[in-house]
Amino acid sequence: DEMDVDTIWMNGEFVDWEDAQTHVLTHGLHYGTGVFEGVRCYDTENGPAIFRWDEHLDRFYASCKPYDMEIPFDTEELTEATLDLIRRQDLASCYVRPIAYYGYDTLGVSPGDCPTDVAIAAWPWGAYLGEEALENGIEVMVSSWRKHASSQIPTNAKTTGLYVNSMLAGEEARRNGYAEAIVLNKEGDVAEGPGENIFLVRDGVIYTPGLSESILDGITRNTVIELAREAGYEVNDTASISRGELNTADELFFTGSAAEVTPIRKVDNVVIGNGSRGPVTEELQEAFFDLVHRRTDDHDEWFTYV
Ligand code: PMP
Repeated sequence: DEMDVDTIWMNGEFVDWEDAQTHVLTHGLHYGTGVFEGVRCYDTENGPAIFRWDEHLDRFYASCKPYDMEIPFDTEELTEATLDLIRRQDLASCYVRPIAYYGYDTLGVSPGDCPTDVAIAAWPWGAYLGEEALENGIEVMVSSWRKHASSQIPTNAKTTGLYVNSMLAGEEARRNGYAEAIVLNKEGDVAEGPGENIFLVRDGVIYTPGLSESILDGITRNTVIELAREAGYEVNDTASISRGELNTADELFFTGSAAEVTPIRKVDNVVIGNGSRGPVTEELQEAFFDLVHRRTDDHDEWFTYV
């Protein structure tokens, strides 16, 4: 097909892309009871390698816990399946999407005997917010929708149902001419993007909302914190950031497996810093891309070579 991919791994088997189907009465379709991951495989100087696969897999299993969901495959099986899927389709750089969800058995809200279905797909996917966005930054709006509070739904689990909120916020932004949204938490402080964590730079110090701000414990967030500290920056990763602080920031940027490191140049039409990618953002972005493409030897333990 057009993306040059033809295979999906589903419940232990490789099936044709068109045959990766599920029943319309699937529990997860009705109630959002699924968990997923978004991972990138980079075409590195040492061949294709999945970035921080182990951490993504750990989060995948952890996301199941609040839902009493048991993935009927162990980590070795899912790793083998993923590597095989990438090799079979001859992919070098790609996005990997594992998903587990309550399948078809009963349509009571209680999943009862619903099976946990598991699938993995991989396909080529360029810059999430566009190549130009990585260089020049994006214009975002603060959404009128608030994030779920972690007292309402576990925000540290990457649950399919949570993305209704992300979709509402992102589409509200795009309808208003912005590339993406910033979502405040229920208390009104800055939480994250619909599918990204957020960082703020002020007077040479880097801030990012703490895990208690109802955010996803992002793996790119963790990577960038580590890279920033290695570069000598002070990083406050338990920050509480007010809406007003967005406007007075020297720099803002998003992080995510899909979004990578994306500068933010305007919030609600207020110019941030000098209105383009800031110097700290650029430095961290460069460190990030050097890392994931293996132009450095650092952190080789973060890579699973295909
Ligand atoms: N927050 C949300 C809500 C997300 O969906 C994502 C993407 N998984 C992130 C943050 C960034 O997390 P990661 O760096 O692990 O992709």
